[in-house]
Amino acid sequence: MLKWGALTVALFCTLTLHAADNNPFFFKKNNPKPQPATNIHIPVVLPQSAVIVVPFYTPSSQQNIPVILADGDYRMLHFGGLPEEYELWDESIINPYGVRLVEMQDTIKIDMRGYFPPVQKYVTSNFGFRRGQFHYGVDLKVHKGDTVFCAFDGQVRLVNYQRRGYGNYVVVRHNNGLETLYAHFDKTLVAIGQMVKAGEALGMGGNTGRSTGYHLHFETRYLGNVINPNDLYDFEEYRVKDDIFWLSAANFEYVKEVEKIRFWTVRQGDSLSKIASRTGVSVARLCALNNIRQTTTLRIGQRIRYT
Ligand SMILES: [Zn+2]
Repeated sequence: MLKWGALTVALFCTLTLHAADNNPFFFKKNNPKPQPATNIHIPVVLPQSAVIVVPFYTPSSQQNIPVILADGDYRMLHFGGLPEEYELWDESIINPYGVRLVEMQDTIKIDMRGYFPPVQKYVTSNFGFRRGQFHYGVDLKVHKGDTVFCAFDGQVRLVNYQRRGYGNYVVVRHNNGLETLYAHFDKTLVAIGQMVKAGEALGMGGNTGRSTGYHLHFETRYLGNVINPNDLYDFEEYRVKDDIFWLSAANFEYVKEVEKIRFWTVRQGDSLSKIASRTGVSVARLCALNNIRQTTTLRIGQRIRYT
């Protein structure tokens, strides 16, 4: 299948050479020494005389991405292979990897090229703390039935439903090592295991699961660890912030804040003042942390954040 794909693409590219400008996945045959990457921001220009060979961009061929320079020379961008944890392919759990990246030592280089914005709408709710809970994605406005597109090439790993959470949602494993999650679909349009391209329709905008109003909840993860989408994407310009993303422990600093959170579970007879005296946190602070008022009636079993 790869061969046929490569042949088809090679033929297509030969016929439409002029359209291949800026496509980084080409290199010149019999070119001498690959140059080490020195500046990743050099624009890629394909010389008209180039002989086209298309290395398929799959995890196994991801190690070295050749880039043609304006003078016809080329250099190699070196990408680390995908981590071995990705040998695990689970079709029911969003994060089956059990990896904690907040203490990782490495810096991982991620190829962000080929991004397609899932929707071209504004952010309605951002990543971060929200009413005492941590919101792990960004919410983007959609209307019912709006098409939601896949962000990068990859393979659908989950198509699932959570009544009290994500509603109808899809998780895609991408060739660059990222995984993206799209939630609250009215209807999903893909199946588990399906190969998808950036810009391919994944589902239709909806309001399913724990959602008030039509929106897309969009997350990006690496080995199950959530990355702040604002580190990666510009949601006003509908593009990635850079062609290369350097992922390090610094991107997971927020985890330390999340882990500081403590909850008090409301029991029979509890009141805000009682919780305040038990936890040593003032009523005003409890109200602020939980976005409630002093007069709010507490429900038994309700979780009140106190740090
Ligand atoms: Zn959300």
